[in-house]
Amino acid sequence: MKDFNRMWVDGQWIGGDAGTRPVTNPSNGQTITEVPEATPHQAAKAIEAARRAQPAWGALSPLDRGKVMHRIAALVREHADPLARLVVEEQGKTISEARGEVGGAAEFFTYFAEFARRIQGEIFPSDAPGEQIWIQRVPVGVVVGIIPWNYPAALVSRKVAPSMIAGNAIVLKPHEETPLSALYMARLFEAAGVPPGVVNIVTGSGSTVGAALTEHSDIDLVTMTGSIPTGKRIMAAAARNLVPVSLELGGKAPLIVMEDADLDLAVASAVTSRFMNCGQVCICNERMLVHDAVYDEFIRRFVAATQALNVGDPMLDSTDIGPKVSAAELQKVERIIQVAIDAGAKPLLRGGRPETPPVKGGNWLMPTILGDVTTDMAVMRDEIFGPVVPVMRITSFDEALRIANDSQYGLSAYLFTNDFARIMQAVQDARFGEIYINRIGPESLQGYHTGYRNSGPGGDDGIHGLDAYLRKKTVYANYSGRSPVGLMPWNGRKA
Ligand code: NAD
Repeated sequence: MKDFNRMWVDGQWIGGDAGTRPVTNPSNGQTITEVPEATPHQAAKAIEAARRAQPAWGALSPLDRGKVMHRIAALVREHADPLARLVVEEQGKTISEARGEVGGAAEFFTYFAEFARRIQGEIFPSDAPGEQIWIQRVPVGVVVGIIPWNYPAALVSRKVAPSMIAGNAIVLKPHEETPLSALYMARLFEAAGVPPGVVNIVTGSGSTVGAALTEHSDIDLVTMTGSIPTGKRIMAAAARNLVPVSLELGGKAPLIVMEDADLDLAVASAVTSRFMNCGQVCICNERMLVHDAVYDEFIRRFVAATQALNVGDPMLDSTDIGPKVSAAELQKVERIIQVAIDAGAKPLLRGGRPETPPVKGGNWLMPTILGDVTTDMAVMRDEIFGPVVPVMRITSFDEALRIANDSQYGLSAYLFTNDFARIMQAVQDARFGEIYINRIGPESLQGYHTGYRNSGPGGDDGIHGLDAYLRKKTVYANYSGRSPVGLMPWNGRKA
């Protein structure tokens, strides 16, 4: 499919009233196609469509909603190959990673469709006989979903699938640089029989269309994945209308390697966790804390394994690392490296731009490993989101834990050790929403992907992620046949 000049609103394929926007292939800098640029007015129209569509969708049995979702999952699997290639084209991750992402995009629909018979409430005894109190879960109503560029297919599913099974209607805005997967998936939603307005895909810039969606007064939830500054803006906008938000923001995951760790496992995990998707993953290994006793050996192996990675055309199965998503992102990471070196960091592996780019015109950056870093350096404190990792020598577990916790972020943390006491100490004292012990991500569908501190309030996945898409309704039911006499004395008083 190369026809991306329409977006999907209220079951119609419409153009953007603000014109079109080119989408660039990060591997070669070429324009792939143009997509609609919506106006704030069109964003508002999409919300109105969602509002109209939601009651009928919410009134269906969850099983019927689930049937549509199973059809979506089947279609995503059927289209896995073109969709994976599209992810590579617009975002630059390798084709093998893109296949994994698209598998995940299908699995979100299967997983959440299976909640059809599992969305449950509670019944409490009443204070009076012949009465019941129950709390049921009902749809929130209209959801706005805002997603970043690093997983342009999977993140569509991560927001749309729970919204659908909960009985909501959603307006989703993909990132302006990677809207193609979402538009492709909209065709599959239509083919699966998603009723008009239940899912709407609106494309355009964050500052106009994203802002119009999240500032709208007639919405019931904003679920956003992206950066901290945007998350703050969205939270402030939603607060004006008292709309709840669920924010999945950045991370600065520490990866701790203790002296008793399985070094083969730790090295392989650290490499994958740092360099997958060219380092552009919120739960990536962003700073390594390695015990002095194994530091030299770990670094020797880590540098060798990193040097062996193949930076190249992401469409090839043999490639390990593709380009950065955009020239702006590439320059941002180059600045981070330079600032760190100016502050005294020592390159253990000097990346930089390759002398001969694997493909001309792409945003190529080789992996960089920085030693001699200190905890006050920006490279140890701020999210890098690229193929660069600082590594620090630590001499005790307490020191590692203290450095790990001293962060504005609190999304994920990694620990490599076989010491049970240390594992339990980390479980108790590491202040992160996700702790991985002797393994790395990706996170699982049944987990709860949530961050502490500036990594954002809220979360996705599993029963707790789904809960954000539902609200609670308490019902007081009197079936005694008597007029209810409550606790208040005047209720029993004779006239
Ligand atoms: P970003 O914040 O620049 O953009 C995210 C989305 O917000 C885009 O769709 C953008 O158009 C929109 N947006 C921008 N301004 C807006 C506004 N004023 N109102 C409403 N919407 C607006 O983030 P990015 O650069 O696309 O993504 C990278 C960031 O995402 C990183 O910080 C990364 O850690 C984070 N991320 C987090 C997770 C997670 O689950 N915690 C997952 C992936 C990425």
